[in-house]
Amino acid sequence: MTLRNAVENLDLINKNIEFSRLQNNAHHIVKVVGISKYHTTNEVMTLYKAGQRAFGENKVQDLKQKMDELNEFPIEWHFVGNLQKNKINALIDCDPFLVHSLDGYEFASELDKRLKIKNKTMNCLLQINSANEDTKSGIDAENAIKIYKKITNDFSNINLKGVMSIGAHTDDTKTIKESFEKTKQIFDKLQVFGAKICSMGMSSDYNLAIACGSNMIRVGNILFKDEEVI
Ligand SMILES: *Cc1c(COP(=O)(O)O)cnc(C)c1O
Repeated sequence: MTLRNAVENLDLINKNIEFSRLQNNAHHIVKVVGISKYHTTNEVMTLYKAGQRAFGENKVQDLKQKMDELNEFPIEWHFVGNLQKNKINALIDCDPFLVHSLDGYEFASELDKRLKIKNKTMNCLLQINSANEDTKSGIDAENAIKIYKKITNDFSNINLKGVMSIGAHTDDTKTIKESFEKTKQIFDKLQVFGAKICSMGMSSDYNLAIACGSNMIRVGNILFKDEEVI
């Protein structure tokens, strides 16, 4: 990927965001997290030069490696992958800016315990399985509010900042839209409990996600694309 590719990709995404966010309202601001899981440190560097500052990984060892290789740059690192108990300490040591994928009370309990031992805190989003798909992690929509409140009350070293969801895995726009709307409704009810971030939308559906109220998108493919944009 050349610097020119990177600038063009960012320009196109920003142009699309500008259109979609106005369908929500004129004050709606959207943050872009570049998901670099299938891309090299060099490619992250190229996007950094083009102005992108937030990146996310889905494996703790990849996060650690890219963070180490790029540690002289003020990059904001996110973690979006499935959480595993045997990787908790390594994840805490990475000290990511935000973990998008906290997906259960029991895991939160374990995470909080380890955070307390290390005297650290972690910003997290509660992952909601709004499309109700067996293949996805996340909390059922019906239990999301209850569990969000419980984690907030019970675990002082976890700072819940909002919710994350992956759009329904289908080509049917209506079904995807419904899954985003469901997450947004939950997010709205959680704002009184301090929820600020609604992380939804990937390369194939970020415009729809933003129109439905997402204020953080996680894009990989379209950001790291290395063909000329027509
Ligand atoms: C890979 C990944 C993305 C980015 O997906 P693209 O289709 O490449 O935009 C976003 N969120 C999560 C949780 C991912 O694992």
